[in-house]
Amino acid sequence: MGQQHTLASEVSLSGIGLHTGVTVNVRLRPAPVHTGVVFKRIDLDGFTIEAQSRHVARVSYATSLMKKGVLISTTEHLLSALAGLGIDNAIVEIDNLELPIVDGSALPFVKLIRQAGLRPQRARRAYARILKPLEISEGAKRIAIYPSETFAVSYSIAFPHPVIGAQSLDFTPNASSYEANVAPARTFGFLAEVEMLLKSGLVKGGSLENVVVLDEERVMNPEGLRFPDEFCRHKILDLIGDVSLFGHPLIGHVVAERAGHAMHAQLVSQLLRQKDCWALTTSPPLSSGTPISALGVLAAAGA
Ligand SMILES: [Zn+2]
Repeated sequence: MGQQHTLASEVSLSGIGLHTGVTVNVRLRPAPVHTGVVFKRIDLDGFTIEAQSRHVARVSYATSLMKKGVLISTTEHLLSALAGLGIDNAIVEIDNLELPIVDGSALPFVKLIRQAGLRPQRARRAYARILKPLEISEGAKRIAIYPSETFAVSYSIAFPHPVIGAQSLDFTPNASSYEANVAPARTFGFLAEVEMLLKSGLVKGGSLENVVVLDEERVMNPEGLRFPDEFCRHKILDLIGDVSLFGHPLIGHVVAERAGHAMHAQLVSQLLRQKDCWALTTSPPLSSGTPISALGVLAAAGA
């Protein structure tokens, strides 16, 4: 309980980058204790970028990391899968600048990590326990974190679209509830926005295979949605990946309203600066003792 974990073996996966449209190969490898998650550009002599907040570069449509001018883009879904399953230490080798989008969710990465297996390590995991609230707002957007006995997320979104509307979820993740309820939720975009992004040279690899696309009335993907509130679940998926850049799992309750990558990144960088808001502890949160059998709570508010 409360030990650090790495992968039990090496695994790899290939796919195309959402924005570049280029094929990329990813290999996940075990790493020693206290390594954290480290990306390695094997096409650039193994240049490494630690998955830490200080390297966050662009956060409009994806969370990208940059160090000394070297970029690694669209890291959030893989980071979410690693954090969601409780991997502390891993090397992520890639041979291009963008992680593959695969099906637009974290599920392919979860399956890959399951295939590798988890290995407990001989060091305690250090959690950051939130001691006092931190709140950030920007117009109608808001993100905050409050003291809590466990890591929990309350997320609400509102889009003036008949399929989305207002969605709100409370989620207390552990590995099995993350895998079942959050990891399969895909990224989404609006047709008008997709056309604009294509014009600016983005989403070259985007298709109905890896993005839920909405026209003015409906979901364009022939298979439909995986959950009626897939949009809100995907926001939670992104948040879990983005807050992992803090460098320690958080014990606190994140409340986000109409937020996105930029707000998630702001929460992490503000927390890192306001050191009186948290303290490191090796005592695990109450609910993480049995991550496989204890199910998290997931309910649509007002449903
Ligand atoms: Zn996403």
